[in-house]
Amino acid sequence: MKKILLYILSFIILFFILPIIFTITPKAETEEVVSNIENVTQEQPEQEVETTIYDYQKYKTIKLFHSGSGQIEELPIDEYLYGVVSSEMPANFEIEALKAQSIVARTYTIYQIMNNSGKHPGADICDNSSCCQAWISKDERLSKWTPEEAESNWNKIVDAVNSTSGKIITYQNKPINAFFHSNSGGKTESSLNIWGGIDYPYLKSVETAGEEGYTQYSSEAKFTKEELLNKLKEKYEDCEIDYSQENCIQILEYTTSGRVKTIKFGNKEIAGTEARTILELRSTNFTFTISEDEIIFSVIGYGHGVGMSQTGADALAKSGSNCEEIIKHFYTDVEIVEVNSL
Ligand SMILES: [Zn+2]
Repeated sequence: MKKILLYILSFIILFFILPIIFTITPKAETEEVVSNIENVTQEQPEQEVETTIYDYQKYKTIKLFHSGSGQIEELPIDEYLYGVVSSEMPANFEIEALKAQSIVARTYTIYQIMNNSGKHPGADICDNSSCCQAWISKDERLSKWTPEEAESNWNKIVDAVNSTSGKIITYQNKPINAFFHSNSGGKTESSLNIWGGIDYPYLKSVETAGEEGYTQYSSEAKFTKEELLNKLKEKYEDCEIDYSQENCIQILEYTTSGRVKTIKFGNKEIAGTEARTILELRSTNFTFTISEDEIIFSVIGYGHGVGMSQTGADALAKSGSNCEEIIKHFYTDVEIVEVNSL
C-alpha cells in the first residue's frame, strides 16, 4: 500500500510540480527586460497606445525597478521624484528651472506608467536614463555633494518637487511624453526628426536664448583618419574612405532645426543620429574640418534636442520666467493641470 502511494507521489512530482518550477525561473524574466530596454531606445512607436484614465491616488506610490540589482522598490511618487530631479538637473540651477524639471519628470513618469506598463514586469518604471529616467538614492546623492552644500541642495530639490506636487503637463487632456535634454544649442528639435514614429504635436522645434553661457553648449571631438574609419568599421565592416577625394565626408541633409540628418562617410550614408552614436558626439548639430592628419567635429548643444532644454530652462528662469512659462516655451500648446482633475 505504502509503495503504491510512493509511486503516485513520484508521478505527481515528476509530471506536475517539476515542470511548474522550471517554467517560473527568474532568468527568463530578466532576459525579457534587457531586450525591452534595447528596443525602446531605438525607435518610437507609430501610434500612441490608447490610454486609460490615470488614477493618481492609486499611484501615490510607484514601483521602481533598479536595473543594477534587479530589485523592485515601492516609494511615494514625490519621494521618487526627489531622486529623479536631483539626478537629472544640477541643484545650483534656478528654483523655477528645478520646479519645471519636477513637473516634467512627474509627467514623464505618469506617461510611462500609462503607456509602457508592460516594459518592466511587476514595476512601473526603471532607474536607467537610457530606458526610462535617471534616479539616485538620497544617500548616494548626498555623498556626491560637498558636506557644506549637501543639505541646502537636497532641501532645494525637495522644495521644487513639493511645491509642484500633483502638477503635470497635458495636451488635449492627456499627459504628454515629456522629453528633455541638456542643451539645445539655441533651437530644439521636433521628435519626428530624431526618432520618426509619432509626430507629437507638442514636441516642435522652438528657439531658445541664453544657452551659450553653459559648458554644455559647445564641444569638440577629434579623430585621426584611421581612428575615424575604425570606429565606422565597428558598425559597417565594408566602410571605406578615400581621404584623397574632396567630398569623402559630406553632410547630405539637415533637419529643419539645422541638425545633421544624413551624412556620408566614404561609401556609407548614415543618419546623423547614428553618426552621433558611433562617434560619441554630444549632439547631431555639428560641423567638421579635415586637416592633414585629423578630423575635428565641432558640436553645438548636448543631447537629442527634443522637448525642454535644461540649460535653456535655467536661462529663462534667470531672465524672470516662472516654471509654467518655461514649460509652455518648450512644449507647444500644452496645459499644466492638477493630475487629480483629469
Ligand atoms: Zn525602464
